[in-house]
Amino acid sequence: MNVDDLRSDTPGCANVAHLNNAGAALPPRPVIDAVQNHFMLESTIGGYEAAEEKAADLQHFYDAVARLIGAHADEIAYVENATRAWDMAFYAIPFAEGDRILTTSGEYASNTIAYWQVAAAKGAKVEVVPDEPDGTISLDALEAELAKGGVRLVSLNHVPTHNGLVNPVAEVGRLCRAHGVLFLLDACQSVGQLTVDVTEIGCDMMSSTGRKFLRGPRGTGFLYVRREIVQTLEPPFLDLHAADWKTPDGYDVRPDAIRFETWERYTAGQIGLGVAADYAADLGTAAIQERVKGLAQNLRDKLATHPGTTVLDKGPRPSGIVTFTVDGHDPYAIKEAARARDVNVTVAHPIAHGYDVRAAPSAIRASVHYYNNEDDLDRLLAVLASL
Ligand SMILES: *Cc1c(COP(=O)(O)O)cnc(C)c1O
Repeated sequence: MNVDDLRSDTPGCANVAHLNNAGAALPPRPVIDAVQNHFMLESTIGGYEAAEEKAADLQHFYDAVARLIGAHADEIAYVENATRAWDMAFYAIPFAEGDRILTTSGEYASNTIAYWQVAAAKGAKVEVVPDEPDGTISLDALEAELAKGGVRLVSLNHVPTHNGLVNPVAEVGRLCRAHGVLFLLDACQSVGQLTVDVTEIGCDMMSSTGRKFLRGPRGTGFLYVRREIVQTLEPPFLDLHAADWKTPDGYDVRPDAIRFETWERYTAGQIGLGVAADYAADLGTAAIQERVKGLAQNLRDKLATHPGTTVLDKGPRPSGIVTFTVDGHDPYAIKEAARARDVNVTVAHPIAHGYDVRAAPSAIRASVHYYNNEDDLDRLLAVLASL
């Protein structure tokens, strides 16, 4: 990986040490061009006309995302963000009284809220599978819970937003398949930074976003739903794109993942997200993963040399998300001090931590991407030294 080339392909690198890739990464030049060009075309010849002219590029989005995650194009839906993509799958599951939903302690807060809503409305039960001491989901505990029966859904994060963890999702997938239980994977923080292959993982549904490690435009995301189950899931919302109106009084829901979409969409974003997916696939997800994990480890090593700094990350080989506290310094003040020096980090607030809420303090989150370099890391360390 030629980091200098990748940086010159990323205009934002000239302005900031961007360590907020888990929030929104800096897009590369081809993504910027694709989005700008399409918006210009819309403003020049009209939005519908631009979509017709660029129909092949819009269609290419499905092929590009499918290639990146090892899926088929008809298993991909374009959705405006990961939360809504996840919702479209989750709320399509026909839960009944007493159905068990298994999740983990690091679950994303929005997902957790949805579990509780369905628990209240349908009488489903939400259960948190215990962690291993290293923070990953306990596969033994998961297997024991699956064996008890009554589990309708296993639903978890691949990479939580706040603690560096990488869950063993392929092992979870194997257990779910062995017990014939649906597996919904939130891959919002993993697509674009790790190799994420739906066939290898064995998930039935998977959601992700455009703007994070995938480096796509904001306001974009996607949902994957396995071909074999798509027709068992009735989306919570349907429109004239997701279903066909059969006069006088019936409708047919689309047989593929398009059933989870709406007709109106951010078309420039769809083209841009396809370009971002190609960009990641062309670089190679294995190479990206090695670079990101290596850089994150370098940052953890550097932080360990700074007095009073505690790295909070969990798991045997943590992700590109580095979280830490500095004794005597409020994380929000550190974020502001960093911003003043054009170093971008964010604060992982307990409110996003789901079930970890009481256990975890607010922490600084510095999330690296392959285009970051050692100088970016050193600039963060210089901020800490200046406190
Ligand atoms: C950011 C995030 C989401 C939500 O993604 P949006 O695109 O903002 O809807 C979901 N899950 C995890 C783990 C996240 O980090």
